[in-house]
Amino acid sequence: MVENPKAYYAPMHTAEHILNRTMVNMFDVERSFSNHIERKKSKCDYHFSRNLTDTEIAQINKKVNQVIEQKLAISEKIIPITEAKQTFDLGKISVTDNETIRIISVGDYDDCPCSGVHVPNTDEIGRFVISTWSYNEGVLRLRFKLQ
Ligand SMILES: [Zn+2]
Repeated sequence: MVENPKAYYAPMHTAEHILNRTMVNMFDVERSFSNHIERKKSKCDYHFSRNLTDTEIAQINKKVNQVIEQKLAISEKIIPITEAKQTFDLGKISVTDNETIRIISVGDYDDCPCSGVHVPNTDEIGRFVISTWSYNEGVLRLRFKLQ
């Protein structure tokens, strides 16, 4: 069986959904275009115009943890690709018009097409913390862990 690279650590990967939505909301950027999810430490890369300040990182940490602490249920629904195209950027997903796609919802905070594995509720994630971050040539990299 070929394991989905995003599947092997559900709490970390679910936190990634919340982080991406938080970045979109706070900075009006695209969700991470590249990421590496591991049990101990993960990273997400964003197209960005500058580095973030300590204050902004603290704001991201606070918001992500506020969402986690709401004990939101993670749910899924299957919708037609044609419908999904109206709401989501499916640029990286290989699809044809006859297929359906799975949308993962984190409460009412985030909806995102995804084939990975998630925890059933955000109360299984733990506490989110960005450990380090860096900026280089238009790419903001956030490294984070769960405690
Ligand atoms: Zn996912």
